[in-house]
Amino acid sequence: MKWHVSKKQIEIMSISSRGSIRDAMQAIDRGALGTALLEEITTKEFIGLVTDGDIRRALLSGYGLESPVLDIPRPQSKTAHVSMSAEEITALFSDPVRVLPILDDEGCVCDIAIFDKRVRLPVAEPQLGTKELAYVMECVLTGWVSSAGQFVSKFEEMLAKSCNSQYGIATSSGTTALHLALLALGIGPGEEVIVPSLTFIATANAVTYTGAKPIFVDSEPTTWNLDPILVEKAITARTKAIIPVHLYGHPADMEPILEIAHRHNLRLVEDAAEAQGATYKGLPVGGLGDIGTFSFFGNKTITTGEGGMIVTNDSDLANKMRILRDHGMSPDKRYWHPVLGYNYRMTNIQAALGVAQMEKIETIIAAKRRIASYYTTHLGDIPGLQLPREATWAKNVYWLYSILVDESKFGLSRDELMDHLKQQGIDTRPLFPPVHTQPIYQSNRSLPVAEFLSENGLSLPSSVNLTESDLDRTITAIKKAQKQILDT
Ligand SMILES: *Cc1c(COP(=O)(O)O)cnc(C)c1O
Repeated sequence: MKWHVSKKQIEIMSISSRGSIRDAMQAIDRGALGTALLEEITTKEFIGLVTDGDIRRALLSGYGLESPVLDIPRPQSKTAHVSMSAEEITALFSDPVRVLPILDDEGCVCDIAIFDKRVRLPVAEPQLGTKELAYVMECVLTGWVSSAGQFVSKFEEMLAKSCNSQYGIATSSGTTALHLALLALGIGPGEEVIVPSLTFIATANAVTYTGAKPIFVDSEPTTWNLDPILVEKAITARTKAIIPVHLYGHPADMEPILEIAHRHNLRLVEDAAEAQGATYKGLPVGGLGDIGTFSFFGNKTITTGEGGMIVTNDSDLANKMRILRDHGMSPDKRYWHPVLGYNYRMTNIQAALGVAQMEKIETIIAAKRRIASYYTTHLGDIPGLQLPREATWAKNVYWLYSILVDESKFGLSRDELMDHLKQQGIDTRPLFPPVHTQPIYQSNRSLPVAEFLSENGLSLPSSVNLTESDLDRTITAIKKAQKQILDT
């Protein structure tokens, strides 16, 4: 959104409300915003707004160039008041409303807010282009829109290959991918699965769906991922598996976790939903444990709208998961169901998006890393902010660039900073509330690191579409928020 339109611009866009259609057209032509402002001739009070569309419709329905402009039908004009915040003004935009006069106390136009796609800087948004459109179109034109079709197997192969895994199994979501993984490992009632508390709730829910119990373990403070020492302490006779999550794009420290799993004979499922393309000691995440899962929800690194993927090197597990994904149907006999299965399939349309997305994932990840490096360079000298780390053994894909705010040094709390940015049209997200504090899992245990991170962390706009000047806007807004505090 643009603000602070010049007095001159307002003047050339304005005509007397008693003017003709011709006057309005001339003002629209001069102003180059597709809109003329009608004002009361003496008081200059704002009367209404007329767009080139209003005029086109009027001329087509028989009005002449000399007809009084006030006579033509036009929708009620929306206006903002000068006292409103950027956030409130932004909320007034809609599809037809793209030019919004801002009125002073006298009812005169003193500024104009102009809609522009960059008005809100989003935390994440999909990168969709003509390739995606072409592949989806192919599904529609050929009729292969359901869960059979060449894009599904192609997408599975691409994902598996990218993780150095042999098998890929596409699913309807990241959550159903996790559920299938745990079912295939035979996890069920009376058993325990170790998960980080600081994660999206789906990691824990997938465990609960099987009847097993998620056991929440605290994070370690640098990578925010499962703390291997605490993992080992949480193991009981009932523990069957560990699910490390590679949070916000940074891999968990897999070697010690794999070693613990091995020593205790536990299975390991990687929840790589937030870290597609990240590597641990040069190896792609998702391919490090028994099974890896991904999500292609709209805000993830690549998207299929909704969707997920499982990768594994174990052919028995792969077969089990394929059967469970498809109603538990026997691969040898149609409509014959030896096990209780699910419909967790991905459609060919989703996979068409996925294939197109995989073709450009390297570009997306490079852009994410560029954004992160820009933020890190320009936010590095601000006292009280802790920026995301990249361990020496890791390639972080910075799914969401997430920082911690130390109120005592920064001057504002995390929530105050978020509010301040929101006022400037800059979207942020708080870190996930730890799962052990969620209503459905509530316990009185305390996991201090997860709680601390969750209370003080936020994700900044990390969309690959952001330009350097968008990033500058965020950086400047953060610095200004702090300066205001220091100045007062
Ligand atoms: C997004 C996400 C999921 C779930 O994926 P859906 O596709 O939304 O079901 C699971 N785990 C983590 C860590 C996620 O971020």
